[in-house]
Parts: sequence; C-alpha cells; structure tokens
Amino acid sequence: VHSSRKRLVAGNWKLNGSLDGNSRLLQELLVRPEMQAECDVLVCVPYVYLPQAVRILKGSAIAVGAQDVSVHAKGAYTGEVSAAMLADIGCRWVIVGHSERRQYHQESSAQVAAKVLAALDAGVTPIVCVGEQLADRQAGQEVCVVQDQLEPIKALGAQIVSRLVLAYEPVWAIGTGLTASPQQAQQMHQQIRAYMESDQVRILYGGSVKADNAAELFAMPDIDGALVGGASLDAQEFLRIVAA
Ligand code: PGA
Repeated sequence: VHSSRKRLVAGNWKLNGSLDGNSRLLQELLVRPEMQAECDVLVCVPYVYLPQAVRILKGSAIAVGAQDVSVHAKGAYTGEVSAAMLADIGCRWVIVGHSERRQYHQESSAQVAAKVLAALDAGVTPIVCVGEQLADRQAGQEVCVVQDQLEPIKALGAQIVSRLVLAYEPVWAIGTGLTASPQQAQQMHQQIRAYMESDQVRILYGGSVKADNAAELFAMPDIDGALVGGASLDAQEFLRIVAA
C-alpha cells in the first residue's frame, strides 16, 4: 500500500533540553537496534544544541534537524539563523511553518514558502507543517484552510515539492492528547496528496502521536510517518514509535 515512500519519524523537542539531559536521551536512542535503514529517523532540537546532537549522533542512523530557519541568507537580521549555517554544522533537516511559529510569530504561508526555498538552496530538507484550528474543523473548513496554507508551497512547482516533506498537524491535536483518528488523518492526507498532485511527497502526521496510537496511524495508506512532540522527549516512547 505504501508505494516507494520511505517512512520518516521526526522528533520535535520544541523548547526543551539541556546539555546533560540531551546527552542521556541521545545515548539511549543510540543503543537501540530499531534504528535501521527502513525508516528515516531524526531529532529536531533547539539551535544551541544542534552541534551537540550532531556530535553525539555522528555515524549513526539518526539525523539532526532544526525547528526553524531564516528566509535570509546573511546580513543585518539579528537573531536569525540561515540555512547555510545549518548545513555548515551538519544539520540537514528543518521544520518550517510549525503552527506554534504561525501562531506566536505571525508566520504567513508566503514566508513559510520562502523558508522552504532558503532551506533547499542550502541542501537542507524542509518539513513543512500545515493544519487547521479546532474552530476551522467545527465549521467544516479544514480542507480549505489546509489548502490555503499549501497554496504557496504548491506554487513553487512540482520539482520543489518532490524535494520536501509535509506534515499534517491539526492544531487541536498538538500537545492535547487528542489525536486525530486514523480515518480523520488519512482523509486529510489523501486530500493533501491530491491537492499537491504528488505520489512521491512524504506526508507525516503530527499531534499527540504516542507509542500506543502510532501503529494504527502508520497503517493508513497516505500516512508516511510522524512528527512527534511530547513523546520524543522520552527515549523509550520515541523508540517504540519508530519500531511501529
Ligand atoms: P505533540 O506535538 O506530539 O506533543 O502533540 C507535535 C508537534 O507539535 O510537532
């Protein structure tokens, strides 16, 4: 059912971590045999811990990602980090357009599209997040909202779309323990794939993914993996999701 798309499980640590805690968590991930080639695995950590994660995971099957990136390549942009800087230190993935960036930092879908280009230009693969709010779903508007978010990404062209990863994360399911049902998620993933006109693009599901619900989500034909927040902070839980 899953065609040729390689599964991907990405942890999103958000604003969590410390040198000591990260070291313990990453070592715990490293000793496990689940980390094999059938599935891409990565952890997206706060900027300051990227070099630490790259160093500890060097030579392993686990890659390192950032949680955001500047649209700019260089210059007078205080506080920003460029995609070339990420690539420079060995970080090959980046989350863009997470709902927490859209919500708390007023990121527009046009900016998200600019970040996608900036990342790809530097050889960094973007994981582009989209997802509706609870009120959108209650109003039956979830498909429109998600398509609006995707529109500037689709406009970049099929060539670009084939090089990125999408993540559907319904905002009402993030950090709430309320996962979308596998059917709800599958339905949206199918809509997203049809809208993007791509059989190849990987679409991850995110929003309260846990070891206990991962397998049923991953059984859906258009769900190619997960973006995992809270559960990625616990090595054993994260490994169980990868195993699923
Ligand atoms: P959650 O977060 O797994 O804690 O719901 C997912 C995300 O925001 O990427």
